[in-house]
Amino acid sequence: MRQRLAVGNWKMHGSLPENQALFEKVAVAAGALSRAIAVVCVPFPYLAQARTALAGSKAAWGGQNVSQHPKGAFTGEVSAGMLREFGCRYVIVGHSERRQFFGEDDATVALKAKAVLAEGMVPIVCVGETLAERERGVTEEVVGRQLSLVADRLGAEGLKASVLAYEPVWAIGTGKTATPEQVQAVHAYLRGALAAREKNIAESMPILYGGSVKAANAAELFRMRNVDGGLIGGASLVAEEFVTICQAADS
Ligand code: PEP
Repeated sequence: MRQRLAVGNWKMHGSLPENQALFEKVAVAAGALSRAIAVVCVPFPYLAQARTALAGSKAAWGGQNVSQHPKGAFTGEVSAGMLREFGCRYVIVGHSERRQFFGEDDATVALKAKAVLAEGMVPIVCVGETLAERERGVTEEVVGRQLSLVADRLGAEGLKASVLAYEPVWAIGTGKTATPEQVQAVHAYLRGALAAREKNIAESMPILYGGSVKAANAAELFRMRNVDGGLIGGASLVAEEFVTICQAADS
């Protein structure tokens, strides 16, 4: 059975007192889950707080980005080794906001995923098409290319230890959610593309959906055959919303 996950991407939000309340609620909710893991990917300065607040709970925490380099003169960057030191188990790589605003290309995303694996953590590799690409009918081509480059770099061993997240760019932070059928279709395509490389990996790799997931729509999305949970932005900042989404991933 594939691992199910509810991963909160806090983006550049939070403050010490607000985080504390959220961590406490996530820790309690995570303890009640039987098969899903609740994960919060927080801004770097809050990793120490996450570690203190969540250590000993069933919740995991992680980073939203990482350098592809292990160390060196890269001002402002954070290495995978540093994230591991703070107890991260997961790291998001290739989020569309990184691709769009910080110029990350597929090759860089692949290097970042490799850096995460090298430190024994799990990369959550994001792929997804823009609205223009969907309207041109090239969704599969786009996500297939994004997946393929990472898969080539990671190889079977690396892929086996990774998580994939399908995040249509037009659904992120827009309130526009892809329909369960649209999500299922792309997830099935991605799983098929993985199967063409290695059947075992295709069957075991969790594929998450991200894009305006809320408490109100999580259950119908996560019920789809190839959907193993979600990557949640805005709704992960509201405890009641995120807790319900975690429960939907668990059922
Ligand atoms: C995200 O940041 O990955 C995301 C899916 O955001 P939102 O849930 O707000 O659309």
